Order: sequence, then structure tokens, then C-alpha cells
Amino acid sequence: MDLEKLKEVLEGMPAFREKQVKQFLFKNFVEDFDEMLSLPKDLREKLKEKCSLEITAEVFISENGDTVKVLISLTDGARIEAVLMRHEDGRNTACISCQVGCPMGCTFCATGKMGVTRNLTLFEILEQVLFFSRYLKKEGAVVTNVVFMGMGEPMLNYDNVMGFVRILNDKNYFNMGARHISISTCGLIEGIKRLAEEKLQVNLAISLHSPTDEKRGRLMPVNAKYPLAILMETLNDYYEKVGRKIMVEYLMLDGVNDTDEDVEGLHKLLSKERFFINLIMYNPTGMFSPSLGWNVKRFKDNLEKKGFTVTQRYRYGRGIKAACGQLAIEKKKCEC
Ligand code: SAH
Ligand code: SF4
Repeated sequence: MDLEKLKEVLEGMPAFREKQVKQFLFKNFVEDFDEMLSLPKDLREKLKEKCSLEITAEVFISENGDTVKVLISLTDGARIEAVLMRHEDGRNTACISCQVGCPMGCTFCATGKMGVTRNLTLFEILEQVLFFSRYLKKEGAVVTNVVFMGMGEPMLNYDNVMGFVRILNDKNYFNMGARHISISTCGLIEGIKRLAEEKLQVNLAISLHSPTDEKRGRLMPVNAKYPLAILMETLNDYYEKVGRKIMVEYLMLDGVNDTDEDVEGLHKLLSKERFFINLIMYNPTGMFSPSLGWNVKRFKDNLEKKGFTVTQRYRYGRGIKAACGQLAIEKKKCEC
């Protein structure tokens, strides 16, 4: 798909034209300019000449159909992954990427191992949701939720991520409530501060993974720049400004961060009124082992005894390598 020239084509036309074209694209999910019959023919021809609506993608569907992974080729040949998770309650969550790779280098993350090539444009971020919107349209369903938990660090591509959020949120287009959109960050405080000023009810998720600087620093290089004291101060300010609970993402790594001491550390670090904890099952990428089932249960029980609200992320799409932290690495390997 290539919509970079859309603005140029629509230049000088009345404002309603832009809205009309965008409604075809982002509300009706039309895949062909020829179907935009209410547009003048010469405009349709020009759009066809300068823009492309075709999404080049390989699709992988899990055995039970609850997960759809898509590997999208961008116009410069870069490839990104996005995943659709179909929940039993009818929600359809798109987990999308915001960068090609990621520069943050978290030791447990496959995307982090790739390094970063570039930021995605606003339209490239949109392309991922659009792919699933078109896919679901065939059965009369829609994407109900979007999470930035694919490849990349959203706070490093802030303007395009927020531009995208506004289109999703816009009643004229996707009309998705901000509360259905989640932005996950490894803890870049400038971005968290900017987000606090947006006056948008999006969900903020913070990848914490350990309550101590020593351990977090070994897992996540970002901790050297923004240690926990600064991060917590920023998150608490965020809560005070926005008033919405923050999701703490906590990867369960066997023998690394799943002990009683860690429960105690989380208890001391986090206010139960401001944070809830989402335990993430580790998808092995080489360096660590996932926590054992009985220990995850024990860890969760102990956190609940301390008064925390704790959720547990179901593992979607492992059979098709569509789980968190596994995105894009397989294809990269094939190229070597
Ligand atoms: N860069 C952002 C968002 C993308 S990562 C961030 O770090 O928050 C989305 C989530 O996937 C993060 O919580 C991250 O810690 C987690 N993740 C990374 N590698 C993983 C793996 N191998 N198994 C499970 N979760 C992983
Ligand atoms: Fe980047 Fe997030 Fe992976 Fe860390 S966990 S390397 S920030 S994508």
C-alpha cells in the first residue's frame, strides 16, 4: 500500500473530498479506487496512478483460527509483522508494530536482537489495522482493540503513533474508543510525559519486568538511562494527570524475577490503586526459560494477597510464531 501521495493528489480540492476518500479507506475499508463511485472519474484515475491500496502480505492462521499473523512487505522491501487475536467474547485485537525492528536491545526480546532499521510512517502503521479490517469485513466483524505490542518502541515514533491514534479515534473513520487502544513502552519518560498532556483516554502499559534497578538493568538497557526512581516518579505524575490505571507488564522468567523477593519488591514499588499487573508468559528466544506453571500461579496468588489486581496474558499464536517478542525474527533468519 502506498498512500504517501494522497495529500498531493487532494491538494487544492475542497476539504470534503479528503474526508470522502478517507471514509472510503478507513470507514468502509474499500480496497479499490474504482469502487469509490461518488468520486469524480478523473480523481479516481489520478488516485490510481499515484497511490496503491494493495497490501502485500503473507498470512499465517493458527490451527484453531484464533490468531492471524501477517507479514507485510512495505514499499522499500522492509517487512513488519502484525497479529490479530480473536477473543471468545467477540473482541478482535490487533497487535501492531511501529518500527522496523527496535533499538532498545532488551535481552529477552527477539525484535530487540534485530536492531532498528527505521520508523514506520503513519500510513504504514495504519496499513496493519487496515489489513485486519478488510479481513474481518468479509464476515461482518471489525477490529475492536489495538495494542502497540508488536515490533518497536512507540515513544520513539511518537508523532506517527499519535497521528494514527487520532485517525482510529475519529468518529468519521474507525471510530474506535481511545480506551480500546493501548500503548506499551519500555519506559522512555519523555514519551510518557507527552502522553500525559494529550488528554486522551488511551491505555498506558509499562514493561517493568523487575522491581530492582540491578535486575531490570540486566534485562533492559533502557534502565541505565531511566532508572526506577525516575520512571516511577514519571508514572505517578502520569496517573495524577490522567487518572487511569497503568498496566505493568511483567515477564515471567524462571529463577530471574519470579521469587518471593520480587513479590515484595513490587509491593513496595507500586501503588495498588494506580497500577495493575499483567503477567506475561515468556516466549523463549534463547537466553532465559519461562517460569514454571506452578510458580506463576504462586507468584500471582502472592501478588493478589498483597492487594494487587493481576491479569495473565494468554499465549496466542505460538504455533505460527506470532507471540510477543517473536515477531519478524524467523523471516530474518531465512534471509541469512
Ligand atoms: N517496545 C514496547 C512495545 C513492544 S514489546 C515495550 O517494550 O513495551 C511488547 C511487550 O512484549 C513488552 O512488554 C515486552 O516486554 C514483551 N516481550 C518482549 N519479548 C518477549 C518474549 N520473548 N516473550 C514474551 N513477551 C515479550
Ligand atoms: Fe524493543 Fe520492546 Fe523488544 Fe525492548 S521489549 S527490544 S523495547 S520491542
